[in-house]
Order: sequence, then structure tokens, then C-alpha cells
Amino acid sequence: MRTLDDLIKPSVRRLAAYTLTPHRVPIKLNQNENPFGVPSAIVTETLRRIAGRDWARYPDFVPTDLQAVLAHFAGWRPDGVVVGNGSNEIIQALLTILVSPGVAVILSEPTFTVYRLMVEVLGGTVVNVPPRADFSYDVPAMLDAARRTQAAAMILCSPNNPTGVTVAEPELRAVLSGFDGLVMLDEAYHEFCNQNFVPLLADFPRLVVLRTFSKAMAMAGVRIGYGLVAPELAAELTKAKLPYNVNFFSLVAAQVAVELYDTELRPLVEQILQERERLTAAMSDVTWVRLLPSHANFHLLHTPQVTPHRLFEALLGRGILIRDVSRYPLLGEYVRFNIGTPDENNALLDFFASTHPDDF
Ligand code: PMP
Repeated sequence: MRTLDDLIKPSVRRLAAYTLTPHRVPIKLNQNENPFGVPSAIVTETLRRIAGRDWARYPDFVPTDLQAVLAHFAGWRPDGVVVGNGSNEIIQALLTILVSPGVAVILSEPTFTVYRLMVEVLGGTVVNVPPRADFSYDVPAMLDAARRTQAAAMILCSPNNPTGVTVAEPELRAVLSGFDGLVMLDEAYHEFCNQNFVPLLADFPRLVVLRTFSKAMAMAGVRIGYGLVAPELAAELTKAKLPYNVNFFSLVAAQVAVELYDTELRPLVEQILQERERLTAAMSDVTWVRLLPSHANFHLLHTPQVTPHRLFEALLGRGILIRDVSRYPLLGEYVRFNIGTPDENNALLDFFASTHPDDF
């Protein structure tokens, strides 16, 4: 008689699940969300549009309206836009069509955890090429590893979560010309860094650009992400993606968010960028921790004198939830927090101004 253990793939059984302990706190800075919430104009218009829909019917088989809107928004062709239930779903679909046992994928840890998890669930091999001391991508080493392992894909998050570093255009070009696998460029935080590699898609059909509505677009709960890819790749991805993967509430909300981006969301992004500068300047006065520069809406904080766990707990005691990232490779002395509203950032700054390592 077989047990469940016999049935589940060993590659899955040995994995640790990706989880996050929930905490109900007034100041939530642990998931890189937009702290201002979704603007009410977007909510009102979305509700108005979905009220007229027949909920008994499936959403569109191919979400052509949203594809067209996103194509225009991002500057790419509609038949190269793949919409997912969060960008996580596009990551999963891409890796599903590429990875099977024995297939290598290059990544540089610390990075977004879902990549390793998905590659391992699929039985593939993660080839981790650590970054340089300043956490920048070691592109020559990544290219060497890719050639050595005949990797199917390379993951580059720009800005990277949790380090906040970007990949520069010459580096990306070096990857695209020196590596013949799929280059997955995850731009979940691109609105905060003025970088846009979409124009390269026309010349490099092996480039994939991933975007999300969970960060700048203030819609993590709506679950919308998208991939900008070559049309041939979009056709293959559609085979691996579940039919009707995105419900029509989310399709409509995403469309409204794009239509109202300039008036409703762009000002929030600009405010987050101003707050990033203000936090960076103010935290430089705190001598017992060091804030790393970031191109995203979050910061890594080096805390060599107080353990990340203790710092996490002390902030939680003040109603501020951050992320203890000390279990990520190379980040044993780090925590991460996203930029909050001005009031939330003031609470964080007050904590650091009024606390000393001896207080722990
Ligand atoms: N990529 C990166 C780099 C991320 O940090 C995240 C979310 N933390 C995602 C993708 C997933 O986003 P989504 O909510 O669109 O699935």
C-alpha cells in the first residue's frame, strides 16, 4: 500500500513551503505594497463597471481588452501580452514550459523566493551565482555558469527584491547576446527606478519582461500581473496557463487602474520616491544601522549590532511590521521594510531616533 509520501515527488517533499506569518498591525511595511491604498476613484469606477456584468458568465477566454490597454501602456504589441493571476502565475507558466528534471536555471540569491521554489517543484536545478559584495549582479559569472550548465533560463529582477539593485542596460545587453536561453527580467518595481527595457523586446525574442499590479499600482489583493513577450512565446505560454485564470473583477480593475494611472497613481509613486529620499537622509543619522541605497519602494537595513529577529520584535511592539530577511543567503544581518506613508515613516524614524542597541 502506497502512502501520500510515496506519491508526492521527492523534489516537492523536501521543499520548505513559502509562507508568511500574518500579523495585524497599524503599520504594515513587510510586503512592498503601496502604502496609500488603492485610490477611491479607481474603486468607484471598477465597481460601476462590474455591476453591469453577468456574473454567471465566464470572463473573456482571451482578455483582449486588457491586453490592448496594457500593450499601449507598456509600449509593446497586444499579441505579446500575457495576463496572469499576479506575476507569480506568469513566472509559474514560464518555468512550466521550460523546466523539467535536469534543466538548469540561473539566478542570483538573495532574490525573490518563488523562482527557486518553482524550479525545484518542477524538478529542475537552481544554479545560484552570488552577487558581488555590494549585491550587484555578477553578470560575467552568471554568463559563465549559464554556458557551463546549458541553462534554459536566467532570472534577473531589476530592481531586485530584497536588495533593491538594478541591472544596467549594458549588462542586460551582454546577457542577451552572450546567453542563448530565456532571459526573465522581472520588473515588479520598475515604476520606482525609471528603467524600462521594453524597447529591447523587438530585437530579442528570448527576453521576457514581467510586470505586476501589486506594487506601484496598489492592487496586490486584486492579483494581476503580466508578461511582455514575443508573440511566439505568448502562444506557447497560453498552453500552460489555466483557462480563465483571471476573473473579470480583476480584469476590469486593472484596466481602470491603467486608464487612471496618470491622475491617481503616478502622484503616489512620486510621493513614495520623495519619502525614499527623506528616509535615506534621516536614517544616515542613525549610527547603529545602515540603510542600503535602493531603486525600489523598499530598503534593506544592515543591523550588525542587534539581531534581525530582535529588531523585528521591537518594531512589532511599536505596531510596525517589517520583514526579517536574515534567512535569505548573505542576509544574516539584514531586515527589509517598504516605504510607508509620511506618518508611517515618521513612526519608523522615531523608533530609530529613540532606540539604542543597549535597549534590546
Ligand atoms: N517579482 C518580484 C521581484 C516580487 O518581489 C514579487 C512580489 N513580492 C513578485 C514578482 C510577485 O508579484 P505578484 O503579486 O504580481 O504575483
